[in-house]
Amino acid sequence: MSEKKKKIHLDFNTEWEYAPAPESADHVQLKKQYELFINGKWVKPSSGKYFDTINPATEEKLASIAEANEKDVDLAVKAARNAYDKYWSKMSGAERGKYIFRIARMLQEKAREFAVIESMDGGKPIRESRDIDIPLAASHFFYYAGWADKLEYAFPNRNPGPLGVAGQITPWNFPLLMVAWKLAPALATGNTVVLKPAETTSLTALKLAELIQEADLPPGVVNVVTGYGATGAAIVNHPDVDKIAFTGSTAVGKIIQRAIAGTHKKVTLELGGKAANIIFEDAPLDQAVEGIINGIFFNQGHVCCAGSRLFVQEGVYDTVLRKLKDRMETLIVGDPLDKNTDVGAINSQDQLRTIQEYLKIGQKEGAEMYQSSCPVPKKGFWCRPTLFLHASQSHRIVQEEIFGPVLAVQTFRTVAEVIEKANNTPYGLSAGVWTDKGSKIFNMTTQMRAGVVWANTYNKFDPTSPFGGYKESGFGREGGLHGLQPYLKM
Ligand code: NAD
Repeated sequence: MSEKKKKIHLDFNTEWEYAPAPESADHVQLKKQYELFINGKWVKPSSGKYFDTINPATEEKLASIAEANEKDVDLAVKAARNAYDKYWSKMSGAERGKYIFRIARMLQEKAREFAVIESMDGGKPIRESRDIDIPLAASHFFYYAGWADKLEYAFPNRNPGPLGVAGQITPWNFPLLMVAWKLAPALATGNTVVLKPAETTSLTALKLAELIQEADLPPGVVNVVTGYGATGAAIVNHPDVDKIAFTGSTAVGKIIQRAIAGTHKKVTLELGGKAANIIFEDAPLDQAVEGIINGIFFNQGHVCCAGSRLFVQEGVYDTVLRKLKDRMETLIVGDPLDKNTDVGAINSQDQLRTIQEYLKIGQKEGAEMYQSSCPVPKKGFWCRPTLFLHASQSHRIVQEEIFGPVLAVQTFRTVAEVIEKANNTPYGLSAGVWTDKGSKIFNMTTQMRAGVVWANTYNKFDPTSPFGGYKESGFGREGGLHGLQPYLKM
């Protein structure tokens, strides 16, 4: 990193300096080249093509990754079908559960290595991959392992059974966690899997494939095919896939829904979001400001449920804005492997371009842009935490998902007004409400069209709790008991 020390300025004119506290990457074992994981073996791609995965904080290459085409996907689906017929669907739930518990335990043992790789490949601060992504991924495996032999109790008198081969396609913002959300319930319910991680962040899925091999799962139960959108499309269009589980953009979700219309395939779509974070006058304001920061700036705003629209009740607008700007000044943007870092690197050059385009659009639309004055490294992809003040409902920065550390701020006077504004978007994934009044929270949660509404907190996840969207944020739920249903016929 270019700047060695980060300065933190506080309101009362004190200045602190944080010495760098980098997490070591010495223990990380990465191959130079990754093949496809098909039928329990590492297989070269039939096209012979590979692509680079880079560290977005340094722009250095981390590894070459195999690019799977239709032929490779066909091999993977055949392996998954064979494993389904021969082993996995015949195995008792208790036995399946043991394998999934084993994956969970091994993931915990290797958590440090997975966390460092996640930060190197994706750009997210080590604090998040270490404290959120990897532990939550492991807890999803633990949670669903527990259900594997209890499906009859989960769905009494409905004779639940697996669907067959599940095709799973994941995005780059929570690479391993999204894989865990998909793999754990699919395996627990007796399905076999062909998984395609996002092209910019395939490494932890490939490391998980190594771990699955070590855990001795029967060959073909989990197959990992890496590549771009065309690889994902080959899974979606394969006639012998029974279920598609997709997390990603609404645009691709629509393509997938069209592609499988009229086929036997079942589908769950976890798509984009444009969440409202709503601060009432009676809210605990310091906590609310932390919630706003956590909601949009951590993980660089690369969060489907990011609180990217802020609504502040008029009476506390000035106070909230002052506190928010002060807090933004203390955020450290930089080396994802530094334990002090709050905001890491933007995941890719393409995503940075998209965000920069929205920064121009927001200014052109007439909103006032405010950015934290923090230094950013010269190399790599970075965006300073950004506010757009005086935004209005019709602005594109208010209606469209930016997927970066950019917050559009509006005010409101009444409950009815803010509900109307909050619901006025094509999305409906999540929202946050900050108030002292429980009754207001219940009123808001019942009227807001959002799959998750957090009250006096933000971005809290738990494997026992279902997650999913309304409207163009998709359908189907992942997590909890609900997360088993899309993988079962009953
Ligand atoms: P994306 O849609 O571009 O890509 C997602 C995945 O789909 C990648 O693996 C990609 O290679 C693959 N893909 C691309 N084109 C495809 C096609 N035609 N057919 C099949 N697969 C294809 O999304 P992204 O940029 O990787 O991720 C960001 C998006 O994901 C955001 O919109 C975000 O809101 C959303 N997201 C939603 C949730 C949720 O739970 N609702 C969670 C995380 C991310």
